[in-house]
Amino acid sequence: MNIILIGPPGAGKGTQAKFLEEKRGMCQLSTGDMLRAAIKNQDPLGMEAKSLMDAGKLVPDDLVVRMIEARISGPECGNGFILDGFPRTVPQAEALDAMLARHGKHLHAVIELVVDDAALVERVSGRYTCAKCGAGYHDKFKPTAKAGVCDVCGGTEFTRRADDNAETMKTRLKAFYDQTAPILPYYKAKGLLRQVDGMSAMTEVTAGIEAVLG
Ligand code: AMP
Repeated sequence: MNIILIGPPGAGKGTQAKFLEEKRGMCQLSTGDMLRAAIKNQDPLGMEAKSLMDAGKLVPDDLVVRMIEARISGPECGNGFILDGFPRTVPQAEALDAMLARHGKHLHAVIELVVDDAALVERVSGRYTCAKCGAGYHDKFKPTAKAGVCDVCGGTEFTRRADDNAETMKTRLKAFYDQTAPILPYYKAKGLLRQVDGMSAMTEVTAGIEAVLG
């Protein structure tokens, strides 16, 4: 099964993608994670993206389209893929359609996580990640069991995203409403769009997604 998770920053796309990856063996393709990895590795591609990402603006379409195409037919996606953070513009959605046709694949559903803007800044500004294994936490909603120690791997170093702050969130939300939200009618017209309440508890959101996937 191949799906897209769509929603504003902080809607829970990454968290839900990880659940699906574990439960169904699908692969999570997160353009944000790929770009952050490229920055960490000091790839030229990452360098091109960094200042835009730090400012909360979208990076050029062709850059993310190329990154997705390189992965979409990989062996790790044999049980289907979850696109998280892609597509983010109508041209990206169109490029995805062309790419899927080239690879003999198709989308089964586009799931919109519906959330209140007011909750997003709090969700995003409290999140942090284990630097060793990548497990995600939140100061208020999901702190580590023991302060400063990762529940999963025992790591003691954590990172916070440079763009996870109230100021950059304004630009990121504007990018979502101006550039990404127009994708919703695009997929609605194709009969693929499903909505799931992203404000409920994490397990309930997962159940809502599972209900869509059947
Ligand atoms: P995310 O981790 O999905 O919140 O993405 C973090 C940042 O990476 C965004 O604010 C953009 O600067 C960039 N980015 C990620 N995915 C895309 C995309 N599909 N199109 C354009 N920019 C993207």
